[in-house]
Amino acid sequence: MVKFITDGMCGGLARWLRLIGYDTLYLNTSRKIEIIRIAEKENRIVLTKDKKLAENYPEIVFYIEGENTYTQFEEVIKKFNLEIKEKNLFKRCSICNTELERIEKEKVKNFVPEYVYIKKEEFAICKKCNKIYWEGDHCKYIRERLRKI
Ligand SMILES: [Zn+2]
Repeated sequence: MVKFITDGMCGGLARWLRLIGYDTLYLNTSRKIEIIRIAEKENRIVLTKDKKLAENYPEIVFYIEGENTYTQFEEVIKKFNLEIKEKNLFKRCSICNTELERIEKEKVKNFVPEYVYIKKEEFAICKKCNKIYWEGDHCKYIRERLRKI
């Protein structure tokens, strides 16, 4: 599976790529050489709106034309033939990119709203930022958006 790294101008794009399961780092830094270094070391493709960076490192940097998150997301999906598969959705923390782990319902009791605890059976956790995930209304919205692509 192809891996990415985005710079500060493509944060929204990074979140969407994580949502469909692609390992995507986000690095908001003005020191672009750092992004290149990580990309080379970890075999990632750089996604950026920095045209000059793309010209300087054409093998590993892809210049994003889209002006908003969704057009950028569609652009990357087409360019790299990314697959949107149900089994890959919601597998990564959209905030930090860490792979989520299943967590037993009993263990989240004190950390999620009561109505969620009553209604939902399956939960996942990001071990890095301790955020707990469950299939909520926002997932429905995300699926609808993905269907349009
Ligand atoms: Zn996280």
